[in-house]
Amino acid sequence: MVSLWQKIRKTGRVAEPPPPREDGAAPAAAAELAGSVQIRHVDAGSCNGCELEIASAFGPVHDAERYGARLVASPRHADALLVTGPVTRNMEVALRRTYEAVPQPRLVIALGDCARNCGVFAGAYGVAGAVGDVVPVDVEVPGCPPEPEAIVSALRGLTGR
Ligand code: SF4
Repeated sequence: MVSLWQKIRKTGRVAEPPPPREDGAAPAAAAELAGSVQIRHVDAGSCNGCELEIASAFGPVHDAERYGARLVASPRHADALLVTGPVTRNMEVALRRTYEAVPQPRLVIALGDCARNCGVFAGAYGVAGAVGDVVPVDVEVPGCPPEPEAIVSALRGLTGR
């Protein structure tokens, strides 16, 4: 046990080097975040591929919390919504209500091609539309799914760190 602690202490903190920050693309409301953004994730109908990449972005390898981004459990504690998937009919009202529960100024990040334009689910009978059809979108992260570096880069653009 002691040798394990010694090894942890000797190794220190190891994470991927920071991806480039998306400068100039941040919405005006991001200036009020003061380097920290609390995020409520909403799966509006994702296949869970985007969720795996979000987990990776916030895991020890990419460690998005280094840049002031943090996932929270309630929209009332959040500055921004991180929405994945096309918005299914069953989630349309829930997404709208979650958005209204976030205090002002609130931001919405549409993560993944499905969130941006319904992606591979476009035209499916259970799909109400893209995220932008239900709530205003401030930041888009393209990809199916977006790589963790792209997610961290977009979040860095919001926190400015
Ligand atoms: S963008 Fe791709 S990975 Fe993400 S929810 Fe859609 S199909 Fe799944």
